[in-house]
Amino acid sequence: LAGDKSSGLSSSDDKAASDAGVGFANLPNQIYRRTVRRGFEFNLMVVGESGLGKSTLLNSLFLSELYNADHMGPSKRIKKTVYVESHTVLLKENSVHLRLTLIDTPGFGDAVDNSNCWNPVLDYIDARFEDHLNAEQKVNRGQLIDSRVHCVLYFIAPTGHGLKPLDIEFMKRLHDKANVVPILAKADCMTLEELRDFKKTILNELAQHKIRVYDFPESVLAAAAAASGDSNAASDSCDDEKSIKRLKDRLPFAVVGANCLVESASKGSSGKVRGRAYPWGSVEVENLEHNDFLALRNLMLRTHMQDLRETTNSLHYENYRYLKLSGIAQESKFRTTDGKDPMAQMETEKRDHELKMRKMESEMEGVFEMKVKEKKQKLKDSEVDLQRRADQMRKQLEQQEAELAERRRQFEAEKRAWESAQAQGGGGDYGDSGGGGGV
Ligand code: GDP
Repeated sequence: LAGDKSSGLSSSDDKAASDAGVGFANLPNQIYRRTVRRGFEFNLMVVGESGLGKSTLLNSLFLSELYNADHMGPSKRIKKTVYVESHTVLLKENSVHLRLTLIDTPGFGDAVDNSNCWNPVLDYIDARFEDHLNAEQKVNRGQLIDSRVHCVLYFIAPTGHGLKPLDIEFMKRLHDKANVVPILAKADCMTLEELRDFKKTILNELAQHKIRVYDFPESVLAAAAAASGDSNAASDSCDDEKSIKRLKDRLPFAVVGANCLVESASKGSSGKVRGRAYPWGSVEVENLEHNDFLALRNLMLRTHMQDLRETTNSLHYENYRYLKLSGIAQESKFRTTDGKDPMAQMETEKRDHELKMRKMESEMEGVFEMKVKEKKQKLKDSEVDLQRRADQMRKQLEQQEAELAERRRQFEAEKRAWESAQAQGGGGDYGDSGGGGGV
């Protein structure tokens, strides 16, 4: 292209262009300028029981009174039942605009019956995925505003006894839908030793229950440096990786939040800092010797915000999208009128059919057995009848035989009487009969 006379560049322009390369090396700068102009979205959800210091921590994270603004005071939230509320603010730091949405799940675990208390949270996350999917599928898409939940800070009560069953259930349902970061709230309630043991217990329980939490990968900086092709950036990223590793060793983060300023007691620093003052001393929020707040803030906002956004897009949203679209495809292929899963319906129908066949079979067997029994009974009855009739006939015959024998005997007697009468005088009673005897 540099030697192409028809390109319209003068020879001096040609030379400058060939010295500086073709120019596409400037592409990252173009992207940088455009994304900075557009700004970024980051949606952060806090989940946990009321009173664990969620709003205080969010204010401390973004160095402003974001959360207690207008109607969202903590005392009000405690009284409310389970529902999800989002609150968006526009922040600016060194000409970078951030559209920050804080999503609260107030009152979680406050009710007597906490069954399914995770539903509003899961429904909210799914609804944002659904919004994004619908926006992507529009004919006229315009500029998409990303409202998907990029990170969930899950607050664990400082009980010292590990996770509650509710925490385990909640996180199990959450880890496939969002990047979950477990937070040990109100770390100032525990001594260093207690905190160390508590962290160990929590990590063991998370592993035991196979709960996948976001683990702040160390490779994000190396990947960014490799993409920029800058060797200085690569060596910086190596140092940063080490510092990320040091911060990651503190997982799960035990944090302290505060809305007030206290006099700094740290060596080498003076003035007021965010902290909590107690009669025996003060806890400074942004002091790594006192708690893990800085580790959480640096990892979540400074080094891993983009990775949280990308993981949400490439993993959690992709899962949702895959399930949703494959569900729709299946449905449109074998659509059922009542909206049931067609495969499940087929299985049910098959099972119903088998049951029906088995029932018919047993009914037919019953009928057959009954008929055989009836036939047998009939045969038995007719046998008895025949026997009875045979007996009856035999009796009749015997009777007739006896009658005949009797008549013969009578006849013989009469004959003898007649013969003796004949022999005695040829007359008597029988003379008139003319030999036409009664027999
Ligand atoms: P939320 O209901 O979870 O938002 O809790 P809030 O932020 O409203 O805090 C409830 C109470 O806990 C308030 O009185 C806070 O001052 C207090 N609190 C907040 N963070 C901490 C902390 O780190 N340690 C201690 N001891 N108390 C805290």
